[in-house]
Amino acid sequence: MIDLVEKKFVVAVDLGGTWIRVVLSEEYGHFIGRINEKVDVSSSKAICRQIVRLARYLCKKHHVDVTNLRGIGIASAGPMVQKEGLLINPTNLPFDRVALTKPVAEELDIPTFLINDCAGAALGEKMFGAAKGLDNYVYVTIGTGIGCGAIVNGTLLLGKDGNGHEVGHFTIDYQGRLMCGCGKWGHWEAYCSGKNIPNFVRMRLKEIDEKIVEESRLMKEVKGDISSLDAVDLFAAAKERDRLSLQLVNEIGVLNAIGFANVINAYDPSLITVGGTVTLKNKKMILPPIRKHVKDYAVNRIPKITATPLGEDVGIYGAIAAVLRYIQE
Ligand SMILES: [Zn+2]
Repeated sequence: MIDLVEKKFVVAVDLGGTWIRVVLSEEYGHFIGRINEKVDVSSSKAICRQIVRLARYLCKKHHVDVTNLRGIGIASAGPMVQKEGLLINPTNLPFDRVALTKPVAEELDIPTFLINDCAGAALGEKMFGAAKGLDNYVYVTIGTGIGCGAIVNGTLLLGKDGNGHEVGHFTIDYQGRLMCGCGKWGHWEAYCSGKNIPNFVRMRLKEIDEKIVEESRLMKEVKGDISSLDAVDLFAAAKERDRLSLQLVNEIGVLNAIGFANVINAYDPSLITVGGTVTLKNKKMILPPIRKHVKDYAVNRIPKITATPLGEDVGIYGAIAAVLRYIQE
């Protein structure tokens, strides 16, 4: 029998739509080395080859024998069949099916585990971050998309295939003015995710007095062309105290507050930490309106809502946490 006690290292993979980030870590979360690359989308099998290559590269560079890895954790957006280590019609990769854990485990002869990136982040926050010791805790990401991971009464909620709590597709606007990437109308993510904030802004600009729009800093940010507008432009103009942009940021905050209230009503957490690039790059713009308005929509006692202290590495910590959790099962 292999003596797992001797094996002190973990390779953690954060697989995104554009970037793959791989970290070699000591098992209790001390990073030894890291590397980021663009995801190799030349074929669905290329992603596994990339993971194997980067894991070997980091081990060699830092003088860790691959056989001394306890496991490899892969955190990815879904949908997935977690137990089979498969992504099925993933939203951010151009394949119907991506087999991840089996090819990596076979090639390296190391136990390999897959976890939804948001569920993993919740687990990572509990093991390494702000949720240590908490039994009721939720992680919410506001990035390209919106999602969450929830620990309720000490149990990480996953669902039958590991795709639980797709909160980005909670309906927050019953009039459904904007269509979501999933094809349905009125979903939270259709208004407030980094990818869709521009749609919300363009919709609102058509409803606002033309003169106010024309004279705004926001229009200067995009040189008068709202078709080129992205979320970064809105927050940049808001940071310059542009009144129109601040108004729109606050409106996004109210919509986020409705989403957070739904999360609080569903899971009753004592803490919510928030990550994702939209949040982490604009903490002072995103979090205060949520804290201010969430009480208007939530029935449960309002928990502390704060940015994750794990920052952009929360997914990596999630992948490490998944290895530590599943290796013991
Ligand atoms: Zn949707």
